[in-house]
Amino acid sequence: MSRPIGIDLGTTYSAVAYLDEYGKPAIIKNSDGRTTTPSVIFVDEPQFVVGEVALQSTVTDPERVVQFVKRFMGQNDHRLHVDGRSYSPEFLSSIILRKLVQETELALGESVSEAVITVPAYFNENQRQATLEAGKLAGLNVLRIISEPTAAALAYGMVNVREARYILVYDLGGGTFDVTILEASEDELRVVAVGGDPFLGGKDFDDRLMNSVEEKLSGLGEQIIHDASLEAELRLKCETAKVQLSQRKTVPIAFKARKAKPTSALDALLPVRIEISRDEFESMCADLLARTEMLLENVIAQAGLEWNDIAEVLCVGGSSRMPMVREMLLRATGRKPQLFDPDECVAKGAALQAGLLSGEDSLRQIKVGHVLSHSLGVATNQNGALLVDAVVPALTPLPHTEVRRGYTTVKDDQAVVNVLVYEGESSEIEAYNSPVGRFDLDTSPLRPAGEPQIEVEFRCDENGRITVFARDEITGREGRALLCLCGERSTEEVTLEQEMLARAVVA
Ligand code: AMP
Repeated sequence: MSRPIGIDLGTTYSAVAYLDEYGKPAIIKNSDGRTTTPSVIFVDEPQFVVGEVALQSTVTDPERVVQFVKRFMGQNDHRLHVDGRSYSPEFLSSIILRKLVQETELALGESVSEAVITVPAYFNENQRQATLEAGKLAGLNVLRIISEPTAAALAYGMVNVREARYILVYDLGGGTFDVTILEASEDELRVVAVGGDPFLGGKDFDDRLMNSVEEKLSGLGEQIIHDASLEAELRLKCETAKVQLSQRKTVPIAFKARKAKPTSALDALLPVRIEISRDEFESMCADLLARTEMLLENVIAQAGLEWNDIAEVLCVGGSSRMPMVREMLLRATGRKPQLFDPDECVAKGAALQAGLLSGEDSLRQIKVGHVLSHSLGVATNQNGALLVDAVVPALTPLPHTEVRRGYTTVKDDQAVVNVLVYEGESSEIEAYNSPVGRFDLDTSPLRPAGEPQIEVEFRCDENGRITVFARDEITGREGRALLCLCGERSTEEVTLEQEMLARAVVA
């Protein structure tokens, strides 16, 4: 029987873990000998090259490389354009997953068919469904989609405590920043507050270094050729320098720029060396770090807690290796942050969860509570204004069923009621809420306004699949919709992608 695996499908890097023969999570090394694989694809149809080679190809063939696919998951109809073709985020994610599965099969010497995949805690139901869809396209039986901080806390061994306590997970990855407060008890992990910024991550720190290098290069004026290839090379060098600065006080960024007016073929390159110190780097990124601190304060406030209530601070994500992050966390929280395998712990936690779900005997049963990431409600006409009436609040533990009565028609002889379902934290439709589903309820026979008695029911299962029902309590008529905008992906599109995947050569 094949072992289930845990997959951390990251914005910039992904990782896979499995449970060894002692039931301990272990990370899979890819064929480059690395524990994480860049979530980057070089497209050369029908070949899709995933990983380090694709990342390096940003230097030579930037137009054929696609990155940061995760940022677009669950966005309806969004297509990513590469080399004159367009692909759905689900399709590209399934290519990354295929590569990860291939590498795992190679490393373990057995086939893999079942997985738990992680997503950020703030991912809405659409984004979770899109991830599930990508897993299915990749041929996986996805046992569950779980939140990254929950997986990290599992890997850090945060359950099995006598008294319930709060844990803060600070996750600064390559492209995103998430901060989550979990409640850990003897047998359960539950998300109680979620915050962060989906557009803040290691890449922004690279960009700051990049700007500084560009500024220094501007001193060379027209002497060198400043093209996309130089830019891509500098970007990679800046990322390497940033990683080195986590250990060294100063690092050089050295490269050879092409001269604009070489006097001979032997004189075509100009060696450039730029020294960057950690202090310099930290001061150019101070506002980025301050932003994570502000978001940290927000999430504590949202949970109605104080720093004294937090028992542990866990660091997740490769970028939390930067010393400035730990210093800030110690100062802000008064707790010594734990930093242990920050770029592997999410995959390891997912492997533990996969083991739990497939009945691995050696694991204590732990409930991993899934909570609703955002509030759900229906649009109502209130004195002529369309406002959202929140029915199920954010962070409600799942599974959950909620029935709300008291809705009715607004016009005489109204034959139909449009049920519009929204997700978000405001009653103002325009302001924050995003529509996640709609259907009609037949309100015949025709009656005066206000006479039908309509109830709305939200049924949310533990995987975040949500079905909404509306019922006319007098006639018994019912309308329903499964909330999942990915469900709107046409069958033709999915079939086409399956055909493309069958032809695809993933390397
Ligand atoms: P993740 O998505 O969690 O794997 O995080 C990837 C990000 O972590 C990338 O932006 C990396 O450059 C960054 N990273 C990895 N190791 C380090 C390190 N030692 N110091 C600073 N940043 C790092």
